[in-house]
Amino acid sequence: MSLYTPFNKWVTDEHKLFTDSVQKFYNDEMSPNIEDWVNKGVVSKTFWEKAGYAGIMSGSVSEEYGGVGGDMGFDSITVYEQSKTGDSSWGYGIQSIVIHYLNEYGTNEQKSEWLPKLIEGKSIASLAMTEPGAGSDLQAIKTTAKKDGNQYTLNGSKIFITNGGSADLIVVAAKTDQSAGAKGISLVLLDTKNADGFSRGKPLKKLGLKGNDTAELFFDNVKIPLTNLIGNEEGQGFYQMMNQLPWERLLIGITALGAIDFALQETIKYVQDRKAFGKRIMDLQNTRFKLAEAKTKTEVFRSFVNECIARLIKGKLDAATASMAKYWGSQIQNEIMDECLQLHGGYGYILDYPISRMYADARVQKIYGGSNEIMKELIARSIDK
Ligand SMILES: Cc1cc2nc3c(=O)[nH]c(=O)nc-3n(C[C@H](O)[C@H](O)[C@H](O)COP(=O)(O)OP(=O)(O)OC[C@H]3O[C@@H](n4cnc5c(N)ncnc54)[C@H](O)[C@@H]3O)c2cc1C
Repeated sequence: MSLYTPFNKWVTDEHKLFTDSVQKFYNDEMSPNIEDWVNKGVVSKTFWEKAGYAGIMSGSVSEEYGGVGGDMGFDSITVYEQSKTGDSSWGYGIQSIVIHYLNEYGTNEQKSEWLPKLIEGKSIASLAMTEPGAGSDLQAIKTTAKKDGNQYTLNGSKIFITNGGSADLIVVAAKTDQSAGAKGISLVLLDTKNADGFSRGKPLKKLGLKGNDTAELFFDNVKIPLTNLIGNEEGQGFYQMMNQLPWERLLIGITALGAIDFALQETIKYVQDRKAFGKRIMDLQNTRFKLAEAKTKTEVFRSFVNECIARLIKGKLDAATASMAKYWGSQIQNEIMDECLQLHGGYGYILDYPISRMYADARVQKIYGGSNEIMKELIARSIDK
């Protein structure tokens, strides 16, 4: 039996061909660079451009803007295969989310200007929602975009922003009307080139995801044209963010699945090789049971992810179901990373072994993209209507 049951609910011949080329690209260009990115705290711009050239970020973008015009299965493959290499540095997930914001709500001018650059990897994107005083409670954000003639003046700060150290384009959630609660939030595009008043903090030192330049961002009277508003009217930001949640949350679930697949593969190799008491660690009943449990959890989860992607492709994935994929995936990812590290013994604690990094990387999956407590709240709301 192969280690993985492949996705089968939605995969076409085109998806299979795409998977082959994504895997080849990652084998050649990602796996050999993971350590280097972790050490440098950032993914090289060259890699972004190579990924663009390889066409792996264009899956569901229409051909008009340089994409393939496919479905969300393509984006899912790019995410899953990345995670299956053991990489957590490359911030494609956020790039993809920004691409979808633009694709869905952007004006023709915004799409023409940014989509080709984003899918070619010539521009790197961030999505800046969280602030020092507002994370789960997004309505409480304080960053403002005040209309001032034919411009907005942006003031405030954001924290924990993935790709923040290198982003060329930032989608900023800001209040265009401070008195209107959620209805006062808008999304605006910030082109970081020549943006007076915009600055980045030093990359944050994190427990995991060490190869991503997660940063704090500051806006001090930054002027942006009114045409950088995403959508046709102000106050749509909260609605736009909520509508994109199914993809953002499923993406975290898919990432969990890929990371688990990689960790299990590494752990199986390790326990088949390592010996104690005259036999392989694999031969100990505890090891066999732990791996059997992990494998069962993974396959049950894979089936759910498979179904979620199929629904996403049809536009039928609701936010509560996607929240289940995020919550459950990140939960079992953390449980399985812990078991896999344990089976490595002391070597599992040493950074030379990928499992130690993957253990640390897994932790944030329960926190970002909406914490798992918020996921449970959303799921509960769908039950108690
Ligand atoms: C590595 C990393 C990358 C990130 N990338 C991005 C990014 O690219 N863009 C971005 O905008 N943000 C990003 N974030 C921020 C992330 O989304 C937030 O940290 C997260 O939403 C939680 O917000 P908070 O940290 O303010 O925690 P808080 O909201 O202060 O929550 C603290 C605790 O209280 C719990 N809690 C809060 N409200 C409730 C409730 N109603 N019911 C039950 N429990 C509750 C939370 O679950 C949590 O356990 C990133 C964070 C990290 C660590």
